[in-house]
Formats: sequence, structure tokens, C-alpha cells
Amino acid sequence: MGWQFGYECMECGHAEGLDTANAWCPVCGGLWTIKRDGERCAWNVDVAAVGLWRYRAMLPLSPQVVPVTLGEGWTPLTWEQVPVGTCYFKHEYLMPTGSFKDRGASVLVTLSRHMRVRSVVADSSGNAGAAVAAYCARAGLPCRIFVPECTSPVKTRQMEMVGADVERIPGRRENAALAVMEAAGGAFYASHYRHPLFFHGVKTITFEIWEQMGRAVPGTVILPVGNGSLVLGVYTGFRELVAMGLVQRMPVLIGVQAARCAPLVHRMHGGVPVDVTALTVAEGIAIAEPVQGDRIIEAVRSTGGTLIEVEEAEIIGAYGWAWRRGICIEKTAAVGIAGVNRIGQMPGYPEPYLTVLTGNGLKMLASDPGE
Ligand SMILES: *Cc1c(COP(=O)(O)O)cnc(C)c1O
Ligand SMILES: [Zn+2]
Repeated sequence: MGWQFGYECMECGHAEGLDTANAWCPVCGGLWTIKRDGERCAWNVDVAAVGLWRYRAMLPLSPQVVPVTLGEGWTPLTWEQVPVGTCYFKHEYLMPTGSFKDRGASVLVTLSRHMRVRSVVADSSGNAGAAVAAYCARAGLPCRIFVPECTSPVKTRQMEMVGADVERIPGRRENAALAVMEAAGGAFYASHYRHPLFFHGVKTITFEIWEQMGRAVPGTVILPVGNGSLVLGVYTGFRELVAMGLVQRMPVLIGVQAARCAPLVHRMHGGVPVDVTALTVAEGIAIAEPVQGDRIIEAVRSTGGTLIEVEEAEIIGAYGWAWRRGICIEKTAAVGIAGVNRIGQMPGYPEPYLTVLTGNGLKMLASDPGE
């Protein structure tokens, strides 16, 4: 197929083509990263393309690959004066399926259709599964999503409505991850936290931010973190903007976890992790054992940033604050706003701040008992 791009194992360097069926390195089990043959990518925008596909020249996909798209990307960027300073908000809850996961899902399902796979599997606590399911529907690909039993019923219904088979797996989030790996044989594993192409899809958010801010980047970017698909995608994108010579230095990246499920905060700063994942209102980031944990810590640290935690009351407060401004986000997205409130009170983190409003709260409203 004339692939210009290939996978390389992050642990041992073993390389394979993008058309391989191996979801990770068959030699050592390490995760893939994507390598490009020849020259570096250069800034090149297709102004006629819809949404994130305006950046397709900067995605590791050959020119003949036809996008699977629902018009995702180019979400609004607004800013306002918040109590701690100036903050930009990227409204990713306005995506076709209601979260930023559409960026990764669109690009990853595009690859799977191009590879002519017969079916797709994924594991998700909600929004990633809903996104992969919708893009598979768009591509005409059969799709099976493994969700933890505690996933919000509206999100599983969303997957079923677009035609996915939903497997509810009892117990913790990690059990769904194990189940999908057993099922993966023969199917394409569209993982939002293992597959490198997903991060490349997510990185397009930084290209939009740079354009929408008038060719500039924020001082500090504050993001909710569970498995790290957002923070690693954002890190990849800003790194590329620097490498292309468009940005002088990386914004400071801050990852925010719910104090009730903050394994990475504890790994970075010490302390005893508390495992009460079911109890945080931030269900979208209740991940007890993030597989890319070390990479996430390394990424934020290299920008001069860190990982912080916020309490339930701060999340719920930020959630109500957003809704009262007409911003209909889910509670997991409010973790980023709660993080802005914390970071704004610490010295050394430059303004303007930016947070990504990751997921749509209308999905969850029916099941919200109200506070
Ligand atoms: C997926 C998701 C996040 C980020 O989670 P990661 O597991 O770190 O990718 C944040 N908010 C919402 C609403 C999400 O769906
Ligand atoms: Zn390897």
C-alpha cells in the first residue's frame, strides 16, 4: 500500500509497517510509536477541508487514505476573566459524539477502514467507546465495545444506538481492558490509550488553539487526566508546533486528577494511593492503573508542569459554575476548571491559562440526581 509511516516499539525499537495486525510490540510487549520515513512534517493547512482534516498533512496517514469523518474538530475557543486570571476554554463537548475523543476515533477508524479490517474492538469507560462506535458506524465496520458495568447507561445506550455490540464487564475498569485483549484476536483494537494514532488525532487540538489564539499558545494548559489520551495528544501537538518552528517554547502542562482516584499524582509526588475509583463523580478519568503513567509524568515534567489533585467539592463547584454560564459540560470536564482554580493560586504558572472542556453534560443529565 506504499506506507510512508511505520510503528516502532518504545521499549526495544522493533519496527513494523502500519498495516501490521499487532496492537503492540510482539517482541517485548511495548507500546508502538509512529515513525515517518524521510523529512519532518511542515505546517500545511488544507483550508477547504472540514474540521480537523485541515491538518491531514501533519497526520501520519498517506495521501490516498480517505477520512472517516462526522465533521469533527474546529471547536470554539473562548476566553474569560476567571477569579484567578485569564482563562481560555476549548469547547470540545460540542463534538459530534460529545467529547474530544472524536479526534482520535476519526483518525484511528480511518486507518482501520483503510487496512480493510473485518471488525473493531475497544474498551472504554464511556466517551471513547461512544466515539469509536460512531465512527465505525460511519465506516460500516462492525464494532464491539467492552465497558465496565458501572458505565453511565446513557453512554452505553449511545453505543448501542449506532449499532455497536456492548459487552458489560463486571468489576473494575481494568477488567474491561483485560476482556478486550482476549477478544482482540482477529479484530482491530482501536485503543484510545495504547494506539499511537489516537494521540495524533488528539494533537490536532493544539493546532487549532494556535490558529485560534492568533498564532500563539497559552502560558499554562490544565487538563483532566485518566489514561492520558488528552494530555499525551496535547503534548505531541505542542512538541510538533515547536519542532516546526512555529512556537518558541512549550506551554506548561498540568495534569489534574480527582483526589479519590489519583494514582499518577501519588506516583509523582509520593503518598499512598487510595483506590476508591467508583466513588469520584469524575467517572471519565477514574483509572486506577494508567498503562502510560510514566510517559504522562515525563511529559508534564519536561514542560515544567506537574500533576495535581482536586477534591470532589471543587469538581462539583466548577461543574455548577460552568452550567450557570451556559456551558453544558459533564463533571469529568469540570476537573480541568477546578485545576485552573488551584493552579491560579500557585506561583510560577504563567497566564493565560487554558483548559479543555472535554465532555458534554447533556448525556448525563437524565441520570444526574442533582446536588
Ligand atoms: C476521556 C476523557 C478525559 C480524559 O481522559 P484520559 O483517560 O486521560 O484520556 C477527560 N474528560 C472526559 C469527559 C473524557 O471522556
Ligand atoms: Zn519491543
